[in-house]
Amino acid sequence: MNGTILVADDSMVVRAVLRRQLETDGHTVIEAVNGEDAIDACREHHPDVILLDVEMPVLDGHATLARLKADPQLKDIPVVFLTGRVDTADVVNGLRLGAHDYLRKPFEANELMARVSAALRTKWLQDELRTRNAELDRVSRIDMLTNIYNRRHLDEHLRQVISAARRHDRTVGVLIVDIDHFKEVNDEHGHLAGDAVLREVAARLQQAMRTEDALGRWGGEEFLAVLTDTPPEGVRVMAERLRQVIAAAPFTLDDGSRIRVTVSVGHTNGTEDAEVLVHRADDALYVAKAEGRNRVAAA
Ligand code: GH3
Ligand code: MG
Ligand code: MG
Ligand code: MG
Repeated sequence: MNGTILVADDSMVVRAVLRRQLETDGHTVIEAVNGEDAIDACREHHPDVILLDVEMPVLDGHATLARLKADPQLKDIPVVFLTGRVDTADVVNGLRLGAHDYLRKPFEANELMARVSAALRTKWLQDELRTRNAELDRVSRIDMLTNIYNRRHLDEHLRQVISAARRHDRTVGVLIVDIDHFKEVNDEHGHLAGDAVLREVAARLQQAMRTEDALGRWGGEEFLAVLTDTPPEGVRVMAERLRQVIAAAPFTLDDGSRIRVTVSVGHTNGTEDAEVLVHRADDALYVAKAEGRNRVAAA
């Protein structure tokens, strides 16, 4: 396993020896002459492992490690201390500060390679885990059928934007979009056709919205849109646009038949708790339904 290794040591001789050994082993080497320099190099090159001298001018190894650990971008790069000291307390101190490992000078090539490999493996496993966690997190927020956000994400997102809106003296727009007489689509064309219609509705709604707005599937045939930085009039305009993108063109089913689909939209603005806003948008939706469907209503 090869990687980019930062060698931070004030001794030119030590840097040259390490560079030669590491490059022989196939690694890419970056050099730094003191702690400050090492932190700059980390920001610029994002090394996989840092070999860090303990005794250096400007910023010594322990102070450098503390700075690295305090930086979210740099804290996960494994650090291997290079120490000339024989004192165990020094080693213990370094490990306590969060060093991955240490090497005593003068070091043997084999030991150096073994420790660098171990540190690289740790880094690689961490990166892998982070990627997988990010993917799991993404999947857990997406509705499998329609590929837009699910209720879990919407709940969390609403909470966040409401608290931000309160701080900045703005309101959040909440729209509930419900397909009209959707049960009939299932009854007349089957559940699979119904699923296809749900996907197409989601895609059309998504296309009609700005990237900073959030759209998700709230439940069965109901969608929820959350608009930030949008005054009530803007929310009304968006509600009407969402209604139109569904009603404007018929939906083509797999069997080639074309059906007309419409939605009703209830919307509201405010900074009350998420449940209150959603409930109010839902009441407005009920009014839109009662007034004949394929229309929008404000709370
Ligand atoms: P309204 O105009 O009053 O909204 O009538 P509606 O028929 O749309 O409303 P109702 O709540 O009576 O029915 C909703 C239907 O949505 C019933 C259910 O079978 C269907 N549905 C919910 N989730 C899914 C799904 O994932 N796939 C399919 N195909 N249908 C679904
Ligand atoms: Mg030194
Ligand atoms: Mg419904
Ligand atoms: Mg419905």
